[in-house]
Amino acid sequence: MTVGPNSDRGQLVVVAGPSGVGKSTVVRRIVELDPEVHLSVSATTRTKREGEVDGIDYFFMNADDFAKLREEGGFLESAQFAGNSYGTPKREVEQRLDQGQIVLLEIELQGVRQVKAALPEAMTVFVAPPSWDVLRERLSGRGTEDEATIARRLEVAKTELAAQSEFDQVVVNDSVDDAARAIIALVCDT
Ligand code: 5GP
Repeated sequence: MTVGPNSDRGQLVVVAGPSGVGKSTVVRRIVELDPEVHLSVSATTRTKREGEVDGIDYFFMNADDFAKLREEGGFLESAQFAGNSYGTPKREVEQRLDQGQIVLLEIELQGVRQVKAALPEAMTVFVAPPSWDVLRERLSGRGTEDEATIARRLEVAKTELAAQSEFDQVVVNDSVDDAARAIIALVCDT
């Protein structure tokens, strides 16, 4: 994927969608298919899940360090989600955009709104589940969260699904490969 000849600045692509829809798998697939795309690593205060690696999946931080970085203006956007803080470290995103690269963010809805307000040229893509039942099954079947957390995430998912009309593009995640290729095609078309 390359950015058009007239744009010196890179392109910011923001992918969002309800918890359990498979956004992170789709986003990882995009990077596999097109290694020129840079996936921004977010910071979070949530506990590391099994298999997650600091600096690759997230920068895992304690609440004090997160708050300090936010006060210093170190985040492009930040939000609370299901009891934890998440944020996009600003410096690397800006440097890569300045170098003309394509930068991908995978974030939740409040963050999308902040990014769109700050950088209206960002392309926002909503990854939708094939149906509500599929989403519920995926979220319960993941086995990484307890019942209360799943219930909380499903509540948030309802709000997120209702916001899909705010996005520039909607891609249904029927198949990870198809969804990843559809997003790459959208970026190439702009
Ligand atoms: P999880 O805890 O399942 O990894 O992520 C929970 C939610 O936080 C997901 O919807 C994910 O997209 C979102 N998220 C991850 N990183 C960021 C970030 O930097 N900013 C915002 N606003 N949301 C994020």
